[in-house]
Amino acid sequence: MRRIAVAKGDGIGPEIMDAVLKIFYEAKVPLEYVTVDIGKWVFDKGFNTGMTPEARQTIETLGILFKGPMETPKGKGVKSINVTARKTWNTYANTRTFQTLHGVDTVFSKAGIPIDITVVRENIEDTYGGIEHMITNDVAISRRIITRPGSMQVIKYAFEMARKKKARRITCAHKANIMKITDGLFLEVFQEVAKDYPDLKADDVIVDDLCMKLVTKPDTFDVIVLTNLQGDIVSDLCAGLIGGLGFAPSANIGDHICIFEAVHGTAPDIAGKNIANPTALLLSGIGMLRHLGLMESATMIENALLYTLEQGVHTGDFGNKSISAVNTTQFAEAITSNFGKQPGQGAKPHLKDAPVTETMFKLNENVMLESANAPAENIIGVDFFIESDEQPVFIANKCLRHGGVKFKLINISNRGTQVWPTGSVYTNLVNQYNVRFESIDDMPLKQQDILGLYVSLSGDFKICSSELLLMLGDKRAYSLAQGQ
Ligand code: NAD
Repeated sequence: MRRIAVAKGDGIGPEIMDAVLKIFYEAKVPLEYVTVDIGKWVFDKGFNTGMTPEARQTIETLGILFKGPMETPKGKGVKSINVTARKTWNTYANTRTFQTLHGVDTVFSKAGIPIDITVVRENIEDTYGGIEHMITNDVAISRRIITRPGSMQVIKYAFEMARKKKARRITCAHKANIMKITDGLFLEVFQEVAKDYPDLKADDVIVDDLCMKLVTKPDTFDVIVLTNLQGDIVSDLCAGLIGGLGFAPSANIGDHICIFEAVHGTAPDIAGKNIANPTALLLSGIGMLRHLGLMESATMIENALLYTLEQGVHTGDFGNKSISAVNTTQFAEAITSNFGKQPGQGAKPHLKDAPVTETMFKLNENVMLESANAPAENIIGVDFFIESDEQPVFIANKCLRHGGVKFKLINISNRGTQVWPTGSVYTNLVNQYNVRFESIDDMPLKQQDILGLYVSLSGDFKICSSELLLMLGDKRAYSLAQGQ
């Protein structure tokens, strides 16, 4: 029998996980569950990753983790176990499905507008790298990392999934009009991959426009692929469209390890009361069963769930208030008592013919390190992020002394807005400037040249950080300041 790792989680986690496993047990799902130690209480025991070494070993051996929500202890300087697990095991695609469920009333279901949206969110990169620094007392920065191989993995997965779903449309949402380099790269990869899927209608939309369209015309979207932070926000918006977080399942897909969990958190306000809604975790579990090829069990449980919802059975967080709410255990019992029942016309067949195999595409060990057809790279300048509370013109005069025969000072900006050689007196300044030097006559530079300038400039300023300005082939690989 296939073994999977199970972590019940914190808050309402144990209550809803017990309810779901009871349903699996009654449905005779052919799985064996190995409980692993992950969660807040493991942090409290002194394991600073929130997981014991044994738990890690078990999950890496079994390849599947079915988990309840987990709390990250506040103020202990530890990272979220949920994010750590996704990143450690490179579960690069976070898939969240949002479908109209009969019996769960929303403005859209009442208006007869069906929703069936799958959000595929990149799960490793972006600002979720959590690489953040205070570079002066007043200035915090965060690095946003978007890579070509990382984007490729998640976008290829999204296209494969869309094809299996027989999606009407796959949409890349982004902010490439502003973040031309990071989101621009993500969009470029999407457009590249789209060429291999001529059977799918692929398009793109600016993420703010997407949000407006999702709340006005949600039925026009099908599969949406986004970078990490934007995907996180859009997912919750989509959860709202179909009745809330209690109905939003998610799968974190990697090549070796996959994690299935609900989108919602530990709901501390209702923990221990046996009133939480287990639907999102159950839907995540059903997705897991399909992922493992256990189609019959998945369909039987899903039909029973949909039938139960249609009957108006509900926990306190949703449903018809004129019908009294049941508790978590009763909700699970109602589902098991409906095994074998078929939901009515509101239900739709859920990807029955779309088994998702564990290894959708195998990547060779080092594929992330490859940079196919990388263009010639030239260093043509450097950005120094310096601390100063002086006037830009004084900073410029000092900088001009350091350029020597190789560098010219191009501009100075503050929070991304140019303040020298030209600027507006209305621009508010913080005590951290970006001074940009480029090579005279576009002569390629060496790293040693940059270090020479760094040493010289550090005589006048605290240098908080620096970035090389690169040309990749004939493409500028850095952004211009606002107003440059
Ligand atoms: P939350 O999702 O736990 O709760 C938000 C609201 O939704 C609360 O009112 C809660 O009662 C309600 N709710 C959530 N799930 C429900 C359910 N199944 N049934 C009925 N009502 C439900 O979000 P939060 O309060 O922001 O976070 C609480 C904790 O959960 C935090 O420690 C957070 O870090 C953690 N969290 C964990 C995960 C995860 O494990 N993947 C995800 C999100 C938040």
